Amino acid sequence: MVLIIFSLISLNLFTHKGISNISSSTHKKFSCRCQPDQSCWPKEADWDDLEEQLNGQLVRPTSIIEVCKKNPYGYACKDDLEDLHNPYFIQDDPAGGQSQGWYNAWDLAVSTYAVEAETVEDIVAAVNFVRKHELRLVVKGAGHDYLGRSCAPNSLLIWTHKMRNMQYHDSFICQGCKGSIRSVSAITVEAGTRWIDAYEEVTTKHHRYVQGGGCCTVGVAGGFTQGGGFGSWSKKYGTGAAGVLEVEVVTADGKVLIANYFQNQDLFWAIRGGGGTFGIVTKMTLQTHPLPRYFGLLQGTITAVDNEYYRLLIEQFLSFFRRYLNNDHWGEQFSFGPDNTIKLSLVTQGLSADDVNNIWKPMTEWLQKYPQFTIETNYLSIPPTKVWDYRFWKEHRPEMIVMNTMPGAPKGEFWWAANSDEVFKYWYTYQSWWLHRELFDIGNVRKLTRIIYSASRISRVQIHINKGLGGGSTDAVRRTNETSTNPSVLDAAALVIMGAGSNDVYLVSKVVSQIKKKQKRLFKTLQRLWTTFEKLCPMQVPM
Ligand SMILES: Cc1cc2nc3c(=O)[nH]c(=O)nc-3n(C[C@H](O)[C@H](O)[C@H](O)COP(=O)(O)OP(=O)(O)OC[C@H]3O[C@@H](n4cnc5c(N)ncnc54)[C@H](O)[C@@H]3O)c2cc1C
Repeated sequence: MVLIIFSLISLNLFTHKGISNISSSTHKKFSCRCQPDQSCWPKEADWDDLEEQLNGQLVRPTSIIEVCKKNPYGYACKDDLEDLHNPYFIQDDPAGGQSQGWYNAWDLAVSTYAVEAETVEDIVAAVNFVRKHELRLVVKGAGHDYLGRSCAPNSLLIWTHKMRNMQYHDSFICQGCKGSIRSVSAITVEAGTRWIDAYEEVTTKHHRYVQGGGCCTVGVAGGFTQGGGFGSWSKKYGTGAAGVLEVEVVTADGKVLIANYFQNQDLFWAIRGGGGTFGIVTKMTLQTHPLPRYFGLLQGTITAVDNEYYRLLIEQFLSFFRRYLNNDHWGEQFSFGPDNTIKLSLVTQGLSADDVNNIWKPMTEWLQKYPQFTIETNYLSIPPTKVWDYRFWKEHRPEMIVMNTMPGAPKGEFWWAANSDEVFKYWYTYQSWWLHRELFDIGNVRKLTRIIYSASRISRVQIHINKGLGGGSTDAVRRTNETSTNPSVLDAAALVIMGAGSNDVYLVSKVVSQIKKKQKRLFKTLQRLWTTFEKLCPMQVPM
């Protein structure tokens, strides 16, 4: 079986010419996509022809801030700027994106045309059209890509947002697998489905668990799963990619394939965590799991009185994490900052409130010995079936969620308040690195403390313990090991993240270049700092 890489360069090479026949002039010809000002650009009649083949629509998107571009000081622009802090508003627009751009890398761009796909046939028609006319193709589902890969100027966009049908299965057997594999409970979703849709179906309605993302509005079938994908309880259930049982995918030659453990296995492996884009996934089926007895949320702050005690606190806390928290009961994150605090935003599964108290005893007893430390914590037990149910949060912790109040919004659509800061963000920098579990061992923890402490002087250092599977359940490690995600994830206890950005709407701001300049210093300092993490923990490279 040949793995078809979904770039149109490879598409032309593999499907039209045959790789061995490429002369240098052919290569030159196919190295650029046709642009709107060139004679090769499709004529109106060609676009009409494409539109006729579609169940969905062919549209000409305009910038999501078009109104503000025309009149930055008008009321209409003011309304738009407010709406741009609602992820659902952004997602409803083919020109929208959850990030505005990334310094020195990319800015949100608008495609010339977009196919608002409603069926797999729409996607096949669009793929065939771009191949025939040698156009640049982009694919967008939920539009959450940090790397800007779901937007490009002078392109045809395949927008899957409207494809959000789902089917829950009590007992699913992949196509062609009967007799070889036992059935499992699963959910099949179409390409545009967001995690909030899947959670409602699986957990709120069917009282099961599916491993998805922490952020409700990230897409199920796009960059998340195809890049690995972590949720709060990944140490227990593995990556998003590890839960995939089957995909329906349109390849660059316009074929619709089924990929699972028994057919098109190489494509199946690549799609689960390989980074994309190996084809356009039109449907994805994911395994579900029984819910645990308990879910919980532990938030809090530990403060040290000065720098010296803060270093001591970091070392003690990292050792405590290694011994008591680095296992499949714990998830999410803690962070270290310039204000000498450790902020806790942890979740639990399978632990009662008493269990949590007992586990934390060694840490709280140690803290109580020193008047130089203070600790404030707050624990909430979450009924497992209600973990994504807005009614529970509204009643118990309304500050945790933001409801979508756009006219016509479906009932119960919300996002986590913690994600608000990331909506329509312009990134100055965003760095992350896996920390091998051995770094937390007694012999290494002092070195790790030194680096984290010096990083924390610059800006907040987030340690995401759910984004490393070292210490995770045997099942999570085994299933993730069968995917194409970088195997460093298997031994990493956590992912360290440092980012900086703003969700002011830069794309309309006249001072954008000045703001970018101001951030340059922070950007350079973080780059330097990152080399220390890299030296401390060289990344394992997949074979
Ligand atoms: C606010 C926010 C919160 C996040 N939270 C998490 C988190 O909790 N855990 C985590 O692991 N990651 C998280 N991420 C990162 C996120 O998973 C990645 O940025 C991912 O690429 C987003 O995928 P998407 O499909 O939602 O976005 P899109 O921008 O629509 O797509 C991302 C990439 O996938 C491609 N693609 C989209 N649909 C398809 C398809 N059907 N077939 C083939 N290719 C497709 C696109 O072309 C693009 O290359 C978060 C990102 C943001 C902005």
